[in-house]
Amino acid sequence: MRLPAGFSDATEALACLPGVGERTATRFGFFLLERPDATKAIAEALATMHQRVGTCGQCYNLADAEVSDGLCEICADTSRFDARTLCVVETVPHLLAIERTDIFKGTYHVLHGVLSPIKGVGPDDLHLPSLIARVQRDEITEVIVATDADVEGEATAAYIREILLPLGASVTRIATGVPMGSDLEYLDGTTVARALMGRKPQAT
Ligand SMILES: [Zn+2]
Repeated sequence: MRLPAGFSDATEALACLPGVGERTATRFGFFLLERPDATKAIAEALATMHQRVGTCGQCYNLADAEVSDGLCEICADTSRFDARTLCVVETVPHLLAIERTDIFKGTYHVLHGVLSPIKGVGPDDLHLPSLIARVQRDEITEVIVATDADVEGEATAAYIREILLPLGASVTRIATGVPMGSDLEYLDGTTVARALMGRKPQAT
């Protein structure tokens, strides 16, 4: 039986979400059909999300678009005492994984990707020029590179080391406890904390 277009349009839209196949999307559809209030709340929140969520003008973390200074909560927090230490991460979920450990009190720099010649991602496609500018402007003394321990993450870390060492900053790399090829986002807090505490000067 063909379901009404109003229903199948909704489930097809839901099916684009990661981990949501056709069956799950249909289940969501039936659930929402019986809950008009929840459907309205979800639809309104999603419809305004892109206008309300901006990017931090300093570190490229998510920021509240309505905040006038354009800074994220972390950059705006003057009680973070380690302004000279900067942690470079691939994505905002990776930043959150490190924040959850509650041991890092410096600031972040979100690349929004990694170098990948195969996918055509070069240095100019990531927030690398702004990283160099920040290290110079804020007199950063240590840059902790927390990219993933896979091929692209390692290549990106090596590149960052090359461009930052001439600036006099110490470049360290999270290492201990992070298995090769693993994604920071999905590691438990203890492993991420250990990786951060056990960082080492980045090898050439
Ligand atoms: Zn920020």
